[in-house]
Amino acid sequence: MEKFIIIVHGGAGRIRPEFKDRALRGVKNAAKAGYDILSKGGTALDAVEEAVKVMEDDPTFNAGTGSTLTIDGRIEMDASIMDGKTLNAGSVAMIRNIRHPVTLARIIMEKTDHVFIAGDFAEKLAETFNLERCNPITENRIKIWKEYKTMLIRGEHQYLPKTTKLIKIIPELATDTVGAVARDKDGNLAAATSTGGLTLKLPGRIGDTPLIGCGNYADNEAGAASATGIGEVAIRLVLAKTVCDFMRNGLIAQKAVEKGIELVKTRQNNLPMGIIAVDKYGNPGIAHSSESLSWAIMASDSPKVVAGLKYSP
Ligand code: ASP
Repeated sequence: MEKFIIIVHGGAGRIRPEFKDRALRGVKNAAKAGYDILSKGGTALDAVEEAVKVMEDDPTFNAGTGSTLTIDGRIEMDASIMDGKTLNAGSVAMIRNIRHPVTLARIIMEKTDHVFIAGDFAEKLAETFNLERCNPITENRIKIWKEYKTMLIRGEHQYLPKTTKLIKIIPELATDTVGAVARDKDGNLAAATSTGGLTLKLPGRIGDTPLIGCGNYADNEAGAASATGIGEVAIRLVLAKTVCDFMRNGLIAQKAVEKGIELVKTRQNNLPMGIIAVDKYGNPGIAHSSESLSWAIMASDSPKVVAGLKYSP
């Protein structure tokens, strides 16, 4: 049987000390859920969806329940999923109250002729396919939102939308998006990513997460990758596809993600970013320019979950 593996991340945001244990537990649970599917012969696509769903349900992370709020206090969640075998992909943006945005992304991939649907019709599709609704706003997110909003009002830092400047002052603005990449026993690759976006983002702002190639990409002939951090950086660098192309050209996953983060350093001011990847042989890759990145890996050649809040190879 060929090697199967899942790698997950719980975001590149700075993790407050009181959240460290929860973040570690959360990524481990997600990796185990995905691995469970792979070990029963399930597909990489099912595994990444399940892993991301587990993290969407965990309020520690900025995806699904616990998503961050826009500058005017609303929820606008983004998600995407991609199948490396067919290059089929599905994305949603600005979702308000669906429990699992990643599943809605998969419905768009499988039940429509399109890749990316935002707004009212995305919600209509969720209703048609009986997706569960929820109120993703948590007490903790309201607390964080109030703190940052007060700082904005006091003029203690430069006003948004110059998020790239703001982020140097408040690293928490890039919070904990979730993502997963996997290779199944048949050698198929998949990637999924889900987020509430950046805290205090302007309403209508769409980040890298639902943009195929920026926050998420999978191609059996190259690799699969999921990004987190300042979405605008990943969009400018088309980061997930760029990292997959490094693998297509022969780099193993770890070297490819390191080269991706090198680009963030040299071309994007070393802003806080993180990226995970798997190459077509099943090698994992994790790298970040951010202070921390919660991550977990589980693979068939050593089926014990390993996880951390920073990564050095
Ligand atoms: N990349 C996400 C976005 O910009 C945020 C994150 O990763 O925390 O929407």
